[in-house]
Amino acid sequence: MSSRFIFITGGVVSGIGKGISASCVAALLEARGLRVHMVKMDPYINVDPGTMNPLEHGEVFVTADGAETDMDLGHYERFTHARMTRLHNFTTGQIYDAVIEKERRGRYLGTTVQVIPHVTNEIKERIVKCALGADVCIVEVGGTIGDIESLPFLEAIRQLRNDLGRDHTLYIHVTLIPYLKFADELKTKPTQHSVKELLSIGIQPDLLICRTEKELQPETRRKLALFCNLKEESVIQAIDATHVYQIPLLFHAEKLDERIVESLKLDTKGPDLSSWEALNQKLMGASKQLKLGLVGKYVSLKESYKSLTEAIVHAGIANSCKVEIVYLDPEDLEKMKMDELNQKFDSVQAVIVPGGFGGRGVEGKIRAIQWAREKEIPFLGICLGMQLAAIEFARHRCGIAGADSEEFNPQSSDLVIHYLEGQSDSLRKGGTMRLGAYPCSLLAGSKVADIYKKNSIEERHRHRLEFNNAYAGELEKYGMKIVGRLTEKNLVEIIELENHPFFIGTQFHPEFLSKPFEPHPLFVGLIEAGLAFRAHEV
Ligand code: GLN
Repeated sequence: MSSRFIFITGGVVSGIGKGISASCVAALLEARGLRVHMVKMDPYINVDPGTMNPLEHGEVFVTADGAETDMDLGHYERFTHARMTRLHNFTTGQIYDAVIEKERRGRYLGTTVQVIPHVTNEIKERIVKCALGADVCIVEVGGTIGDIESLPFLEAIRQLRNDLGRDHTLYIHVTLIPYLKFADELKTKPTQHSVKELLSIGIQPDLLICRTEKELQPETRRKLALFCNLKEESVIQAIDATHVYQIPLLFHAEKLDERIVESLKLDTKGPDLSSWEALNQKLMGASKQLKLGLVGKYVSLKESYKSLTEAIVHAGIANSCKVEIVYLDPEDLEKMKMDELNQKFDSVQAVIVPGGFGGRGVEGKIRAIQWAREKEIPFLGICLGMQLAAIEFARHRCGIAGADSEEFNPQSSDLVIHYLEGQSDSLRKGGTMRLGAYPCSLLAGSKVADIYKKNSIEERHRHRLEFNNAYAGELEKYGMKIVGRLTEKNLVEIIELENHPFFIGTQFHPEFLSKPFEPHPLFVGLIEAGLAFRAHEV
């Protein structure tokens, strides 16, 4: 069977949930037994989002093969079985980089290199390559219709319908139907304009996914269908959900998957949604509660920690527990008096210090770690969080007052965290960190070996600095154990504390591997320990 292509565009406003919509479409098609691949095209000029501030563009998602990609790829992996690689997210920057490189090598000799056809061909080739082996390839176009930047991508997907045929291509437009409170009315005009804009570049959407906070009434559906040249049943309501994992079921109730397989002439069985139904039942039926403190610099934009907050949700589901995340800004913690700090932390039963870059807020994070260590609150330190846990322990437990990281205090007497050769003076900032999946051997008898129930694992990385092995002996002497190593390079990957119910630091990012149907053992363990801690407190 030759692959079908579904192109997803977004209208009216950015941040409308195209990534989640694309993922839910994929989940429904997988439930019908189809093999689905997914790809995201981003219109910005950066080669990848790796050099962007998370407050600017949300989390940077790391694939197993070490690509720094758009956070939507995280949704794709969580909702589906598709495995993302560096091929599955490309940007305008990458496309132009490749086209210019080909021009210099003489590949287009004699021709004037232009957006159409050279740039659009480069885009089309990459899309088609991603579909190899798939029944359906879902292609999400970043940005919003009307942006100048995304035009070459839209032109490429327009051409693909001509190249591949009507039965093999489907355009879905995800749009917003705003509700005007004072008029008590849902408004279709912005969508009409957005579709008009799409039509002006030659794309007629086949389906509309309408984000709305109120039910779409039949007359609204009729109006949308009329003005956007669609059948009424092609207007799909996407009402605000309490949880993203409800959306596949809501879309199915709107017959979205039926419409898609019909249009693409795909002969499939009906969808088996039993696992999604069971997940939702667990999610809704969670009887326990827990407050988890998340101490991070980027807490002002929740999207910066998307995989992390999802991993926490998954672990909550596994423990029948609703986890409330209390976002704590480390710079506020730095300034607090001890009793204020005590009060702030009093209600939390678990603490996470996530990854991060740069020295801002570091001392506040260290205060939070010290608090978790001394009060025996379950703690998970991720990447920078692990590095700071080692520094905190060296300073306050081993008496190494000058313990620090070369990242923010290179002059310090004791660089417990340091650059490996070649990392500190790397002039190229993009794509030069330790990135992607690395194996890690776990120490037999350690807590982590017990939690993972394995003796070797593979996890994803994104960092430049490493634990300095020269301090391993001293830290171990006082009870901080090195329990995970990348053996072949002798790099420290996991630390844990003896005599603490749950105090673990990982150099890698476990959150990238957590899925709703495969919750990550470290997060499951943390929530479990948090619940036990509260039971012990009460
Ligand atoms: N800034 C630290 C490093 O580069 C930690 C990175 C992270 O937390 N992802 O090693």
